[in-house]
Amino acid sequence: MSMYISNGKPRVVIVGGGFGGLYAAKRLKKADVEVILIDRGTSHVFQPLLYQCATGLLSEGQIASPLRHLLEDQKNANVVLGEAKSVDAEAKVLTASRFDGSTFDLSYDYLIVAAGMRQSYHGQEDFIKWAPGMKTLDDALAIRRSLVAAFEMAESLPTAEERRPWLTFAVAGGGPTGVEIAGQIRELAMHALTNEFRAIDPEEARVLLFHGDDRVLPSFSRALSASAGRTLEKIGVETHLGVHVTDVSETEVETTDKKTKEKRRYETRTILWTAGVEAVPFVEALAGALGVKQVGGGRIEVGRDLTVPGHPDVWVVGDIMSLDKLPGVAEVAMQGGRYAGNQIAAIVENGGPNGKPFKYRDLGTAAYISRRHALLQAGPIRMSGFLGWVSWGVIHIAFLAGFRNRVSTALNWGVTLASKTRRERAITYGDPETARQPYN
Ligand SMILES: Cc1cc2nc3c(=O)[nH]c(=O)nc-3n(C[C@H](O)[C@H](O)[C@H](O)COP(=O)(O)OP(=O)(O)OC[C@H]3O[C@@H](n4cnc5c(N)ncnc54)[C@H](O)[C@@H]3O)c2cc1C
Repeated sequence: MSMYISNGKPRVVIVGGGFGGLYAAKRLKKADVEVILIDRGTSHVFQPLLYQCATGLLSEGQIASPLRHLLEDQKNANVVLGEAKSVDAEAKVLTASRFDGSTFDLSYDYLIVAAGMRQSYHGQEDFIKWAPGMKTLDDALAIRRSLVAAFEMAESLPTAEERRPWLTFAVAGGGPTGVEIAGQIRELAMHALTNEFRAIDPEEARVLLFHGDDRVLPSFSRALSASAGRTLEKIGVETHLGVHVTDVSETEVETTDKKTKEKRRYETRTILWTAGVEAVPFVEALAGALGVKQVGGGRIEVGRDLTVPGHPDVWVVGDIMSLDKLPGVAEVAMQGGRYAGNQIAAIVENGGPNGKPFKYRDLGTAAYISRRHALLQAGPIRMSGFLGWVSWGVIHIAFLAGFRNRVSTALNWGVTLASKTRRERAITYGDPETARQPYN
């Protein structure tokens, strides 16, 4: 039986309260429909700043806003905590599970799926134990715990030899997330921790960045990625290009050179994984139910109206949508969510979709490298250094959900810049493996 009794209005079920799902729900505010937004977490997480939460610059509350709060004033919207598990496309019913494993059904007239990606370990699921990814709040807090604990461990060990692996930090993946976290670890060590430790010199922290390509940030122009490479070198990040991380353990990371196949091992107690993403497990169930194949990274191919071919009542948007090789960035998800909401509003109001195909407006991408240095690439516009950094800050504040979070984040950045301290370094002792799969 369906959990919610229909109020007689067409029901839109949205899976995922990230950028795609939230913008779809908001677009439907004035539509004569009932909106049910289901998410496995309670908050809309601003993933682009997860690494700042992991490195003690921002609190988890500053980068996450409760979905219920964000949709408080939208009277036609209801938020449900649960994990979507399967779909019956004929009966138009979505089945989801609660924390305790019990399940419930949600019937729908229209379904929007914006469930996003998770970190991919390319089949090496055992890596997660020693190399957390950077996709969720749990990941960020697990990384914060590893980083804080590593410096504390080093401080309490008597010899330099014993301290070395604790002060060596390995990052797999030289895309924006890997570059950002690598730079932030060096900044944490150089600026925030130097005066607080007595036995160790945090500046000795060695940060190793491993990347399979011949340059970091391959999604940016060659000139911008070269500029990022120079800045990383200047702040002391050791970048190793053309290598894959092929093994991780509690005490070591192994890399393999792509060309020569030469293997190297580095002693380290902290390994972070940002090398690839894949669709969350629900997408496989959805593809099966809709009778379509998953494409690269487990994505689902959609038509120009963002519906799944043969299913005019099912929209797939955001990172899990495959269309024209659009990148997995927040703008694609926001514009896709808004478009899907628009189409449903048109169907309900006018009896059919508005007929206009989805057109993505590229507003560019940005990556933070270090203090006073970020990259911004938008069409013909290319910025790096200080100008890029200021633009990066303005963009991120503008897109952060919630006025309070915007103000407090801007304040935190200002205080950190002025005082060089990082106050958000409280750690918890949760279990990232359980956190990755809380709904069993
Ligand atoms: C560290 C990091 C840095 C990034 N930096 C940038 C950047 O600088 N600029 C940029 O444009 N983009 C950036 N991105 C990418 C951007 O965050 C994504 O493109 C965007 O979040 C995609 O939105 P989405 O709605 O598709 O998915 P998400 O935002 O991932 O949201 C998916 C939601 O679905 C929920 N969910 C998943 N499975 C289920 C289920 N079975 N049932 C119920 N709920 C479910 C999740 O809890 C989540 O809330 C970054 C990403 C990361 C990880």
